[in-house]
Amino acid sequence: MEKRIADLEERVAKLEAAAGTAAFLKEQLQLLEVRKRRVEMRITDPEARQRILVALEKQVQILQQLKAGQLRMCVACEEKEATLELDDGKFICETCAQIQGELAP
Ligand SMILES: [Zn+2]
Repeated sequence: MEKRIADLEERVAKLEAAAGTAAFLKEQLQLLEVRKRRVEMRITDPEARQRILVALEKQVQILQQLKAGQLRMCVACEEKEATLELDDGKFICETCAQIQGELAP
């Protein structure tokens, strides 16, 4: 259950960040820092705490990469990191590239 929430949060963070400005990213990073501190204070189970902190840290890394312009989101699904550049200069993820390849004649 927590894993699913963490995955969802990660997706939302990616989507939001992809659409966001530098100011928005800065705000999100600050928010994540607050949430990390809150988790550290409130969650006493070390295993659960570690799991949540790792998930939050992952979001921080994604946001920092986006902020630095090192990460591009897929223009097709807008969910995954785009690793492939198309002929028209757009970037898509491998999953979408495969789907498009399968649909191509
Ligand atoms: Zn995609």
